[in-house]
Amino acid sequence: FDPSENDLLDGLNPQQKEAVTYRGPALLIVAGAGSGKTRVLTHRIAGLIASREAWPSQILAITFTNKAAAEMRERIQHIVGGAADGMWISTFHSACVRILRREADKFGFTTSFTIYDSADSKALIKRIVKSLEADVLGFTVSSVQSRISKLKNELTDVDGFARQANMSDPRDAMFLDIYRQYTQSLRRANAFDFDDLISQTVWMLRAFPDIAAQYQRRFRHVLVDEYQDTNHAQYSLIRELTRPVEPQHVPPDTRMELDERGGIPGASLTVVGDSDQSIYAFRGADIRNISEFERDFSNAKVVLLEQNYRSTQNILSAANAVIRNNFDRVDKKLWSDGGEGAKIVGFTGFSAHDEAQFVADEIHKLRDAGQSYNDMAVFYRTNAQTRALEEIFIRSAVPYRLVGGTKFYERAEIKDLIAYLTALVNPADEMSTRRILNSPKRSIGPATETAIWDFANKYGITFRDAMRRAGELGLGPKVTGAIAQLAKLLDDATAGLDIDSPTGRKTVSQTLKTIVKGTGYLEKLLQTGNPQDEARAENVEELISVAAEFDKNNAGGSVIDFLTDVALVAAADDLIDESGAVVLMTLHTAKGLEYDSVFITGVEEELLPHRIAADEPGGPAEERRLFYVGITRARKRLHLSLAMMRSQFGETAASLPSRYLQEIPEELIEWRVSPGAAGGRGGYEQRSVASARKPLGSEGYGTAGGYGRSSSDAGSAGFSSAVRFRDSDAGRETAPKAKPKQKWINEVTGQMRDNSGMELVAGDRISHVDFGEGTVRAILGSEAKRIAEVDFDSAGRKKLLVKLAPIEKL
Ligand code: ATP
Ligand code: MG
Repeated sequence: FDPSENDLLDGLNPQQKEAVTYRGPALLIVAGAGSGKTRVLTHRIAGLIASREAWPSQILAITFTNKAAAEMRERIQHIVGGAADGMWISTFHSACVRILRREADKFGFTTSFTIYDSADSKALIKRIVKSLEADVLGFTVSSVQSRISKLKNELTDVDGFARQANMSDPRDAMFLDIYRQYTQSLRRANAFDFDDLISQTVWMLRAFPDIAAQYQRRFRHVLVDEYQDTNHAQYSLIRELTRPVEPQHVPPDTRMELDERGGIPGASLTVVGDSDQSIYAFRGADIRNISEFERDFSNAKVVLLEQNYRSTQNILSAANAVIRNNFDRVDKKLWSDGGEGAKIVGFTGFSAHDEAQFVADEIHKLRDAGQSYNDMAVFYRTNAQTRALEEIFIRSAVPYRLVGGTKFYERAEIKDLIAYLTALVNPADEMSTRRILNSPKRSIGPATETAIWDFANKYGITFRDAMRRAGELGLGPKVTGAIAQLAKLLDDATAGLDIDSPTGRKTVSQTLKTIVKGTGYLEKLLQTGNPQDEARAENVEELISVAAEFDKNNAGGSVIDFLTDVALVAAADDLIDESGAVVLMTLHTAKGLEYDSVFITGVEEELLPHRIAADEPGGPAEERRLFYVGITRARKRLHLSLAMMRSQFGETAASLPSRYLQEIPEELIEWRVSPGAAGGRGGYEQRSVASARKPLGSEGYGTAGGYGRSSSDAGSAGFSSAVRFRDSDAGRETAPKAKPKQKWINEVTGQMRDNSGMELVAGDRISHVDFGEGTVRAILGSEAKRIAEVDFDSAGRKKLLVKLAPIEKL
């Protein structure tokens, strides 16, 4: 196969061509969304292989998700054919697992180590926090988990923390204890948590220069996509892998070109990124990795890309207008020649259901106009928002697929079966063994678990060995039998994994079936008659099909390989199935993807920016980047929607339009409003009335000029700049550029209304500009979200947002 140079460069613009063909030690491609960064990276790799400058095995490409990796591999295969095999294209985590599966036995683990996902490490932390009674000092499982994660992402291990901790502070001392026990437990269980995968690899490369040299010699080209989201540990990994090979580690018979010292020059490094899309600061991502790239990697060549090939100009203008409000950034001039395109559609519903109905209706319309479902995507900030969307989608017959969310692999029954498999291949992983001890129920209670544990400690044997000696535990015959039976089941299944066993090694699905059958797991679920158990049984069957699929695609693949795959599926990887369905996913997951039509839902204060980010330094700026990422996923159509009332955190409260909406020039958005508020019009009416059954919706929303007293008002005036609120963030952010709109100015006084200080209690009489006089019945919510339920003398019962309603106390 020998593609002509032209194939690879066809259709690329001059800057893209330069980025594809540049040769040198370090290349940085910085550019806004949709400018072809990923495409350039792909063509660059294909070019290296096609021109025979590099063997596929000399290439390491890092993508953000396994799905992106698969896509890139496919695209490269398309360009250079089978030559692409042997390339490492993977996520940071997958690449590190691959390295650790070869090297972990060099430092006290075995290569069949277990990977703890977030739930596993939570369970472990919970146990430690409990045993140390750390909650007394205010430690919670999640606070400990995120602190440990942060430390590992900064490559601070237990000793490192001990050095920086203030040991006279009891909290630091306690945390050190927790961190130490956590680390020791993982090691004992022969397990790595997610952050370990990277930090331990870095540590290993630093501790074993000869091993590091093998990888440095191997990878001659390292390429990283989405570089803006790398954290310190990931950065260090790249750093280690691209170091020059010291002369003493150069094999005498090498055919590689040597530098003047007799060493081998470091790999050439290409990174692509967009600091405006950095959305993982909370996981330790550091934008400085981009800005300091040129300092860290001398002679780095920088290429800027400015043409966007993804979106229409309207969408791009909105994105530019939003991101411009982040200070401390280099302004990019992103342009598109894709034409103006359709206006952005804005929609305000009464409730989340109303909003979801709008989305469903638009999806049907787009579909009728010829778009297929899998060209559409719905984004949200929090997983909780999916409930309303799913309910309405089911009712409206919109085929959809949820990406991430309550992940399949996080369900209890799936975790149980995964724990069985883990216990087979890693008997040291006591947590897995303990998990399955009484799942399905076999009357082995906590007291028995403790007895096994004590016995193991007393004789210095593993938990699993103690189970094998059930007869010596001094327990009743029934329990003893149950333990012995489980131990035998595990041992038999383990024997089946032996490649030399008389019947040959069992496949993953066979092994899984043996377990399901031997334990009666499925049977027991089917017997209860509980519909939830039926769903669980379906999941068990689904897992067996997943395993069968794995066996089919990975001839000779082991249980360890299967478990590795399972541990590393990231949210976006659920996308691999390209069936005809609309995808639903979080904004975080949407990074790097593109769709013809995009719906961003819940564009409200408290959600976007999320309430926990709103008051953090840099929080609103990071949330704005998230919004920017969402907007720039759209090729042709973008919909921004919100709901006036939303149930969140267990309470229903009025919501305010997101501050970011004001930043989009109004001529780019065409606002629609749910007509249930006041008559309404157009084809939307019927369904909206139906969906506005919720009492709050049908009662209307009594703020003058609020979310549209009549559809015509709201339709023309829109909500985008409707609300102005005091920017808690003042000083950190530039002030909103758009002016508050007329509609939100009190019709009587001409002032921006703010009743925050009005003290209202049930029984008060008030007067409303439109509804006349009435009696307050109840006050719900608090502060900016205080809602008054008022019985008006002639207008009936209404709910008003106190802060903004045109009311006066009588
Ligand atoms: P993001 O920042 O969102 O990750 P990106 O910079 O990686 O975006 P790509 O995904 O590589 O952008 O490209 C965006 C879209 O534009 C893709 O559909 C890609 O195929 C297309 N594209 C890129 N360059 C060109 C080009 N020169 N001609 C035509 N289409 C292009
Ligand atoms: Mg990209």
